Amino acid sequence: MAQNEVADILKEQTMRKIIDFHTHAFPDALAPKAMAQLHSEADIVSYLDGRVSSLLASMDKAGIETSALCCIATRPSQFEQILQWCKEICSDRIVPFPSVHPADPQAVEKITQVAREGFRGVKFHPYYQNFDLDSPEMDSIYEALSANNLIVVMHTGYDIAFERIDRAGTKRILDVINRFPGLKLITTHLGGWYDWDAVEKGLLGKPVYMDISVSREFLGDQRFRRMLLAHPSEYLLFGTDSPWADQTEAIEAIRRLNLPETLMDKLFYKNAKTLIDL
Ligand SMILES: [Zn+2]
Repeated sequence: MAQNEVADILKEQTMRKIIDFHTHAFPDALAPKAMAQLHSEADIVSYLDGRVSSLLASMDKAGIETSALCCIATRPSQFEQILQWCKEICSDRIVPFPSVHPADPQAVEKITQVAREGFRGVKFHPYYQNFDLDSPEMDSIYEALSANNLIVVMHTGYDIAFERIDRAGTKRILDVINRFPGLKLITTHLGGWYDWDAVEKGLLGKPVYMDISVSREFLGDQRFRRMLLAHPSEYLLFGTDSPWADQTEAIEAIRRLNLPETLMDKLFYKNAKTLIDL
């Protein structure tokens, strides 16, 4: 490697700020059990032990300034416990997204509570929380999220741990964004995990946020790069789904793609920073 290339890489590592918009962790006491259960449900590799301290160490190693930490309540009764934990771990470096279960009769009140406590948004997962993205029961929830200016990190596409039944595909996403144009909806896994044919046809080019977690690994570099370039650059967010991916490796894989500098600035930092600061 030429000396100027080494200098460029070093410069980038010290200069470029990075926000990871898609990570997970659990309270220390629950982490071993939670990780074991998630491993038993799907054939997946984890790179960390599920603790916040491990995530922070991984961020230090990768040069990540801030991570959005996504929680998923699989039952309505978990709301309070998750909210309390989110308050404990909230910092300059960890931006927690608490979780409201759509089947909670008080879902709308709880969304207001999340906003009142100063959180930036809520994470939803149609498979773990048993709902279809565009079902009528979600209408009042999307209205409340919009009204409270909260970001919605939405698992989209299929899920590695579930049967391939469409609950969060492109058509449903389009229905939601058409009916709730003010909703700050982030679709995960580049518009929808393993739904990329539909994403390419229907979602790329539309003003909808996409995190890029766990997509390049399945799409291959070429198709992944082509899809990134076909989407408005201000709607792309770097995300890893750590601990299910290695943050350092994920960053290096993007750097190898020879993407325009302006796109990388937006993808790695600017877009996320703008969203979080709004
Ligand atoms: Zn995830």
